[in-house]
Amino acid sequence: MEQNERERLNEQFETAEPQTIIDWAAEHYLPRLAVTSSFQTQSVALLHMISRAALEIPVIFLDTGYHFPETLAYRDQLVAQFGLTLRVVRPAVSRTDFVQRYGDALYRRDPDLCCYINKVEPMQRALGDLDAWISGIRRDQTPDRAHAQPLEALPDGRFKINPLVTWTRRDLWTYIDHHDLPAHPLFSQGYLSVGCAPCTNPVHDGGDERAGRWSGTAKRECGLHTDALLNAPRDDTHRA
Ligand code: SF4
Repeated sequence: MEQNERERLNEQFETAEPQTIIDWAAEHYLPRLAVTSSFQTQSVALLHMISRAALEIPVIFLDTGYHFPETLAYRDQLVAQFGLTLRVVRPAVSRTDFVQRYGDALYRRDPDLCCYINKVEPMQRALGDLDAWISGIRRDQTPDRAHAQPLEALPDGRFKINPLVTWTRRDLWTYIDHHDLPAHPLFSQGYLSVGCAPCTNPVHDGGDERAGRWSGTAKRECGLHTDALLNAPRDDTHRA
């Protein structure tokens, strides 16, 4: 796609309904298209829209092995309720080998490497056959996401489509309430954003929705929505 065409579409998508962007993506990129989801409360609106798309779009879930059991139960609930087609992607290295090599707390010593092995590399593999992928990021979530566009050309030639990018947290909740969508089981305990169990804490007193992720560190992103996804492996020896 030429840059002019992308700019034209982005201008159009800036005010389009997310469902319109999803249907456009399905029409243009299936079968080489998927959506990625971490199956948390913030994901439920996008997954509901995916289930309403005119064409079936598979959903990729990265099973790091560190998820809360409640996340896996919520995933299965939404897959059944919305009739989603799920693709579970796992790290290349088994948990036993991973612990043998790095110990059982790499997430504390080197969370970037832990995220690389358990999230970024599996995602790189999952993207192998795809021309485009859909994500649920919003500009108001983190400074890294503040300039995201609805349609982004990645340096590897793929396209990333962010249908909710212009939405605020309030827009998201208006949609969730309007459609009476279920929340993640831990949401009522203050888990506003849910990732891997060792790196997620509840947020209290009206804090930022991602404040509970890697709290006490400067880390705010796992690497799926940064350049890390496109960079060469920093440690190739973990591969199976
Ligand atoms: S979020 Fe934490 S446990 Fe999960 S892959 Fe990243 S560092 Fe590891």
